[in-house]
Amino acid sequence: MPSVPVAPASNLMSIAPRPDLVFVRGRGAFLFDERGRGYLDWVQGWAVNALGHSPPVLVAALAAQAATLINPSPAFHNAPAARLASLLARHGALDRVFFTSSGAEANEGAIKLARKWGRLHKGGAHEIVTFADAFHGRTLATMSASGKPGWDTMFAPQVPGFPKARLNDLDSVARVIGDATVAVMLEPIQGEAGVVPADPAFLRAVRALCDARGLLLILDEVQTGCGRTGRLFAHEHAGIEPDLMTLGKGIGGGVPLAALLARTRFACFEPGDQGGTYCGNPLACAAGVAVVETLLADGFLEGVRRVGARLRRGLAELSRELGLGEVRGEGLLLALDTGRAIAADTVVAARDAGLLLNAPRPTVLRLMPALNSTDAEIDTGLALMREALRAVAGR
Ligand SMILES: *Cc1c(COP(=O)(O)O)cnc(C)c1O
Repeated sequence: MPSVPVAPASNLMSIAPRPDLVFVRGRGAFLFDERGRGYLDWVQGWAVNALGHSPPVLVAALAAQAATLINPSPAFHNAPAARLASLLARHGALDRVFFTSSGAEANEGAIKLARKWGRLHKGGAHEIVTFADAFHGRTLATMSASGKPGWDTMFAPQVPGFPKARLNDLDSVARVIGDATVAVMLEPIQGEAGVVPADPAFLRAVRALCDARGLLLILDEVQTGCGRTGRLFAHEHAGIEPDLMTLGKGIGGGVPLAALLARTRFACFEPGDQGGTYCGNPLACAAGVAVVETLLADGFLEGVRRVGARLRRGLAELSRELGLGEVRGEGLLLALDTGRAIAADTVVAARDAGLLLNAPRPTVLRLMPALNSTDAEIDTGLALMREALRAVAGR
């Protein structure tokens, strides 16, 4: 007999409307609730489960590391952190790494590093140009760097020093650059804004502008990095490299892990400037090693691009069939614009049908399947989406 569902815990602070479901188990592309019902999961912990739920390679790495050494404190070296840093440094010019437990904390580190560099090398310049509708996290500084409507007053006063420009509008960037500017910070694809890509040409122009004005280019690849777009890092699509970059979400495969990367010449933290009790702990870093080694295995990223193209084709067909809007994104970070404000209702209808989706905007459905999804799983998800969208669009 399946047990009777328990009422979701009422001692938790309410920070999000949650359905009356408790998920008790995950396996690959699927999540299972306490009644044993399976759901194809295209949320995957908000794009954190890069390899799906509880992939064997991650379970083995965590079990082995947990039995060996969980946390010697950040005051001592540990092997998994060194190994993960060297794996990341091998794939570009950013060869100094600081590990954190969340994307927001990695972005805080990037902001601090840029401000310190400005103090040392740019006459105290400290302003970081950021963008309307950007999302960089939920600490005070990263909320201030974000451009979500309403966030400027929600926990006022803001942290100052984050003038706003508009994505894909180079003039709007140039206009806010002044003597106090030290950096430009942006997401290669604005995820929370509804999967809005920066044009590759815009990214190249921002890179050139930063070079011309002696500014740091900071890319927040917390959502777009670690294979999500079909390349290890999304900036590879534009053929540029940042000076600082943050990673998060997928890097830990579901375990809290994030990273700040910098070119050596900008890595100006000195002892005492930065730290954190959990920063670079071997348990989280062992998870990161397992994930990144998998991403770098022969053919893996090619597989992400292939399956991503299949999903994109299917979404475009759905859009044509049901008269919806555009399909945006790259690799397996995709969105379907529903045109009308039916995204939230579609999330509910899809869940009833057995598919978990996310609606970051009233008119946007965001798809973040596991990077190792199979063709069959993509086709199943598309069929369930069609069923849900038909039901909701026909109301
Ligand atoms: C999720 C996200 C963050 C914040 O990461 P947390 O781990 O939730 O703190 C920052 N930037 C981007 C682009 C994100 O998608």
